[in-house]
Amino acid sequence: MATRRLLILSAVLLALTAAAAGADPALPLRKYDSRHFTMRFEGREDPALVWALLERLESAYRDVGRRLGAFPGSRVPVMLYTDGTFPAHASVPHWAQGLFDGQIRLAVSWAALSEESLDTTLRHEYTHALIHARTRGNVPTWLSEGLAIVAEDRGADEARRVMGNAGHVIPLDALHGSFMALPPTQVSLAYAESETAVRYLLARHGEAAVRILLTRLGEARDFAAAIQDVTGGTYAEFQSAWKRSLVGTGGASSG
Ligand SMILES: [Zn+2]
Repeated sequence: MATRRLLILSAVLLALTAAAAGADPALPLRKYDSRHFTMRFEGREDPALVWALLERLESAYRDVGRRLGAFPGSRVPVMLYTDGTFPAHASVPHWAQGLFDGQIRLAVSWAALSEESLDTTLRHEYTHALIHARTRGNVPTWLSEGLAIVAEDRGADEARRVMGNAGHVIPLDALHGSFMALPPTQVSLAYAESETAVRYLLARHGEAAVRILLTRLGEARDFAAAIQDVTGGTYAEFQSAWKRSLVGTGGASSG
């Protein structure tokens, strides 16, 4: 199955010639298009690495799209750093493989292709790209991060442990902007809250509610109004119910 998919993708890639990006010397020389992604790269030109990554991104496209019932209307831009590290000026943790800042950026070398964690990274960053496209950027960071983490298919225990240790909760409406602006000690709590709030939203209101929520946000609806549309209660009531859901399970103190 995987081999067949690879052959199909390779055929598509061969049919779509890698196009010269133009005369601007600031732009990478070439780009590669798969069915749903456009990949440019910095570093050594390595078409085989690019194609292998595009195949795995197409897999993330199918998995995440099925779950959220959403598929972008145009190709998703991806920038690949083929030597496996981000440029020194990028404010990314040294261990990070991916980030989304309007386009997916991946720091992946051949060595990383064999790592299972790579698919986790791809699903996470692709989820950000999909949600950004679906909501036109009108999305609280906690919702986008929570959905991206849930798409990784990892267990929920770590987030509950982080929240339990923190002993306090940052209000969700204080987690609408970039987590980069938070004090460093609050960042892991912000991610843990994002994850548990999305898991609660999914468990209590279902995937259909999340799909409608993203649609409303794409229609430029205010978040507090949009969450009321899908939960039937106010944003404050949603936050209270989410915090109550964590009490007694080692999750967090309310307050
Ligand atoms: Zn993220």
